[in-house]
Parts: sequence; C-alpha cells; structure tokens
Amino acid sequence: MKILIMGRPGAGKGTQAANIKEYYHIPHISTGDMFRAAIKNQTKLGMLAKSYMDQGALVPDEVTIGIVEERLQEDDCKNGFLLDGFPRTIAQAEALDKFLVSNGEKLDAVLDVNVPSEILVRRMVGRRVCKNCGATFHVEFNPPKVEGICDFCNTPLIQRADDTEATAENRLAVYDKNTAPLLEYYDKKHLLKTVNGDQPLSKVFEDIKVVLGR
Ligand code: ADP
Ligand code: AMP
Repeated sequence: MKILIMGRPGAGKGTQAANIKEYYHIPHISTGDMFRAAIKNQTKLGMLAKSYMDQGALVPDEVTIGIVEERLQEDDCKNGFLLDGFPRTIAQAEALDKFLVSNGEKLDAVLDVNVPSEILVRRMVGRRVCKNCGATFHVEFNPPKVEGICDFCNTPLIQRADDTEATAENRLAVYDKNTAPLLEYYDKKHLLKTVNGDQPLSKVFEDIKVVLGR
C-alpha cells in the first residue's frame, strides 16, 4: 500500500500516521521528522532546513525531493509506504510521480485529513512531542497520563520550535498558497480520499480505515 497523508499543518497527519503504520505495517516517512532529526544531529542538511523551518517556510524543493527519493529506495519501502508532509508543492508531486513511474510503481491513495483553519493554531501551539520516540500529544486535546511525560517511554515532552502562534499562522498561509493546489492535482487522478479530521482521534482513524477499504 503506497499512500500519502495530506492536510493543513496541525490537522493530525502525524497522529494518524502512527496508527496507519501500526495497522497496515508500512513505514511512516515524514519529511518534517527527517529534517528535525538532521537538525538534532547538526548536519549540513539540518542547518539548512532549520533556517526555513524557523520561519514556517518550505525547505527548497530540490533538497526535499532528494531526501525523499533516497529514502524511498530503502528496502522497507518495497511493499508500501506512508508519506507524511510530502509532497507540499506541485513540483514535489510531479517529481514523486516521475520517480514512481520510473520504478514501475504508483500511488494507491491520497488521504486528506480535513480540519478548518480556525482550530489549527490552537492544535499546533498546544502540541507536545516526545524527543525520544516521536509520540505526539496535546496539552488539552490529547494530554499524556502524567503532565509533560511521554506515555510510551517516560521521556520529557518538548514543544517544537516552530509551534509558536506566529510561525503556525505563517505555515497555514504557506499551505494555502503552495500545498492546497495538490488536492485538485490528486482529485483529477481519482486518488483523493477526504476524511473529517475535526472529530475525536479514534473516530478519525475509523474513518481512515473505511476510506482505505481494507
Ligand atoms: P500534523 O502532523 O498534521 O501537523 P499532528 O498529528 O502533530 O498534526 O497533530 C497536531 C496536534 O493536534 C497534536 O498536538 C495532536 O495531539 C492534536 N490532534 C491530532 N488529532 C486531533 C484530533 N482529532 N482532535 C484533537 N486534537 C488532535
Ligand atoms: P511538519 O513536521 O510536516 O509540520 O513540517 C515542519 C516543517 O518542515 C515545515 O514547516 C517545513 O519548513 C519543513 N518541511 C516538511 N516537509 C516539507 C516539504 N515536503 N517541503 C518543504 N518543506 C518541508
């Protein structure tokens, strides 16, 4: 199963991707997570990505496309993958199409987790993530059992550097300008499956399983 999960920043892509990964046994490939790992390791890629991420801007296409193509060639992607946060521009989508065609592969579905803009800044500002296992929580909507501590590995939770109100608003504007046109792009290819992301987490996942149809 080769799928994309799309949606505005804060829509719940990462949260649902964790469920999809476990249920369908496919690797979860998040470009945001890849960039954050590079920042943590203080690599050249990390330094470059940070300069864009801190503003809520997009990392340049050629850099992003390069790391995704490299990742998709790894063995664990042979039988399927879930791409989260990629593509975010038409150029990235076209590069992905080209890459898949040249490998004799194609996408099975593009999920769009649809959430109205109004509540997304609140979702991003209240997001807390585990720096060890990557689990995602929310101070109000999905709190950990013990405040500030990961339920799964007991590590202290942190707030992402780009989860400030100003940066979150910029990321939503960047989405509207650069990423929203992809919905039509995939709809024309009859791949788009929209789920309502403005529901309890477990209900969103139930709906995802229904639209993926297995
Ligand atoms: P994305 O990967 O799309 O940016 P996340 O999965 O990180 O979004 O979710 C953003 C924030 O919203 C997180 O703090 C998460 O716990 C919370 N969240 C995710 N899904 C829901 C939901 N259905 N209802 C309420 N809060 C949610
Ligand atoms: P995310 O974790 O998906 O919310 O992404 C966090 C940030 O990483 C974004 O605001 C961008 O700066 C950068 N980023 C992630 N994915 C991409 C992408 N496909 N293209 C460009 N920049 C990206």
